[in-house]
Amino acid sequence: MKKINVTVWDETIGELGPYPNGIYQAIADFLAECGQFGKIRTANQPQPEHGLTEEVLNDTDVLVYWAHCYHATVEDAIVERIHRRVLNGMGLLVLHSGHASKIFSKLVGTDTHILGWREDGEVERVWKIERNHPITAGLPDYFDIPQSEMYGEPFGIPAPDELLFISWHQGGEVIRSGCTFKRGNGKIFYFAPGHETFPIYYMPEIQQVIINAAKWAAPLGDTPIKTMHVTESPEALRTKK
Ligand code: ZN
Repeated sequence: MKKINVTVWDETIGELGPYPNGIYQAIADFLAECGQFGKIRTANQPQPEHGLTEEVLNDTDVLVYWAHCYHATVEDAIVERIHRRVLNGMGLLVLHSGHASKIFSKLVGTDTHILGWREDGEVERVWKIERNHPITAGLPDYFDIPQSEMYGEPFGIPAPDELLFISWHQGGEVIRSGCTFKRGNGKIFYFAPGHETFPIYYMPEIQQVIINAAKWAAPLGDTPIKTMHVTESPEALRTKK
């Protein structure tokens, strides 16, 4: 079976709280360490074409996308390019504040200011909703993130295809924190935990979700969208021989 190539993208470079080499590198590291993927690339917004050239995207089975402050400066042409690749079958994992990105909005149909939030560092309890699903495999019924940023309902997404996790926050709010969407041939997973000032991406449960999701989102085969002018019907071809 073809190995799954993953590209981990984020908007920043340099030092970020508990992630001295960037969130993208922390994610790329545990994806590489688990040994279940092919090529693991990283790419960042400041790079030419945001590091997401045609060549890179065409060789990417799953794109992991983390962004927070610079959504507005992501070039529309690159958003268009990612959009097309997703419709053609590339998987997309949108993490945390990526919910406000142009690509998530374009694919899922949301506005940018679409949830409640409070940067309080309180407990987030992540509940598993679907037990028999590849993304929740191996996870306990719930786990706690000791310090998290509160993301709360109402979350202005359309009803997801599958609701896999709900989070409860210490302040009382809840949010649909793990959702899948299918767009064209592409599989999309949104996962809410992952604020940059807390070491959330070092948690084994969080890593398990992302590893599971990357495997789930990968295209199963070649799924290009083609406009075909069909000159002969399958029946005509069959009776001709
Ligand atoms: Zn945040």
